[in-house]
Amino acid sequence: MELSNRILKFGLNNTNSLLINPINGAIDIVPNKIFSLRYTLENSKQILGDSEREYLTNRGYFFSEQKREDMLIDLESISKQHSQKVPYWFYVLTTLNCNFGCPICYEKKTLENSEISLKKLEKIINTVNVFQKEHKLSDSRINLVIFGGEPLCVSNPELIHQILEISSEHKWKNIIVTNGSRVNNFIDMFIKYSNTISDFRVTLDGPRIVHDSRRSYLGGRGSFNDTVNAIDLLLEKNLSVKMQTILGAGNISYFEDLIKFVKEKDWLQNSLFQWRIEGSHDYTNLDIKKDEISEGKIVQKLIYSLEEHRELQGKLKFESFKYLGHIVQSFGWLGKYNTYFGPKYGFCEPQKGFHYVFSTNGKIYHCPRTINNSDFCVGTIEENAILSNELKNKTVLDNPKCSQCTINTLCGGGCVVQKKYYQKLNCQEYALSTIAEFIDLTKDKILEHASSDKIVSINNLW
Ligand code: SF4
Ligand code: SF4
Repeated sequence: MELSNRILKFGLNNTNSLLINPINGAIDIVPNKIFSLRYTLENSKQILGDSEREYLTNRGYFFSEQKREDMLIDLESISKQHSQKVPYWFYVLTTLNCNFGCPICYEKKTLENSEISLKKLEKIINTVNVFQKEHKLSDSRINLVIFGGEPLCVSNPELIHQILEISSEHKWKNIIVTNGSRVNNFIDMFIKYSNTISDFRVTLDGPRIVHDSRRSYLGGRGSFNDTVNAIDLLLEKNLSVKMQTILGAGNISYFEDLIKFVKEKDWLQNSLFQWRIEGSHDYTNLDIKKDEISEGKIVQKLIYSLEEHRELQGKLKFESFKYLGHIVQSFGWLGKYNTYFGPKYGFCEPQKGFHYVFSTNGKIYHCPRTINNSDFCVGTIEENAILSNELKNKTVLDNPKCSQCTINTLCGGGCVVQKKYYQKLNCQEYALSTIAEFIDLTKDKILEHASSDKIVSINNLW
């Protein structure tokens, strides 16, 4: 009986290695002496006692290929069960106009003076209604996300009012994604609909100089003051703010300064304030000045920041995990989450069929990164329906390459947009190198759990 070749093994130092079992989720730190002989259960008898051998067997390190295939099918029920509660996000683009000229904007090629009419909004709402009925979704799972461009740059404020009013009537929730510059103009309306509005997503990308270089008005004036004032105003009016910071190469080294600023503002003491970190990812922008940094580098930064600044616990969240969610959650490095970190059968919420983007042209797109991109159109409001298509609701089991892949339950099938624009990408190599880089970056923290004599299990099995 051989140790499954599906197990990921990372050397930590001369004494210990980390084992990750993508078949059942097990993560264990093991003494290297276990592997000084061939990786066989029989040979391990010479080093391990009976109980340790049994332990390794129970952790699934000797699973046969047949057992792996059976488990992959069985475990899907965990993911399906979780899907019963996942909220749906219907992005409503009120306008593709924006008063900012951010150099890192992934929508910059689509920004234009286009605004939806009230008639078009009615059709969008009808489409959401049809979808809700067809899928038998409770009202509490429906979110209309007010999105743009800058969604508050509308010439007709009645558009925003109608979205809030209709959501209130349906008992749906709203999320408002805004650069903050026009919050003041709508504040009375937001207070009136505070029960309907779940939260505001306002981006603050760094301390003043850094934020201003990444988030300037058209014409170049910095927006730092206005963004900070908008967050202050929303909090003062008891509206919930999930401040966002998009970490990239251009601002990661200033993150500590931003933490200092946030602490000075006393926002962390406010129960209505949360801080969400995202990674900059833009697969359609082949510009050499791309801002992206690896998932491993972002998560490492957050782990060390949380350790240094205890006040950030429970406030700072990173949810755009691609490959590292299960590992990070197992070690508990970023605190408690409501997010699902079980075996991944889909890559991201849009691909799992939970997100739809209604653009100003009446078409429905796959995800916010694909607005007005005909390759990713998934329906139109004229047909009153979101069409089923190749992009959504596919699991790793639907793709022969993914169902055979060793790291499928950590990956979930990869990003369809990345695959389209980087056709030569070796996705397994890419995912594995992301995981390996992260293990290397966090080696010291992993070794805090290690023992030279015994196996240390980091988590429970899925
Ligand atoms: S790494 Fe590639 S083959 Fe493996 S699950 Fe992800 S997308 Fe599929
Ligand atoms: S499909 Fe790709 S680009 Fe779109 S949200 Fe998912 S990971 Fe991002």
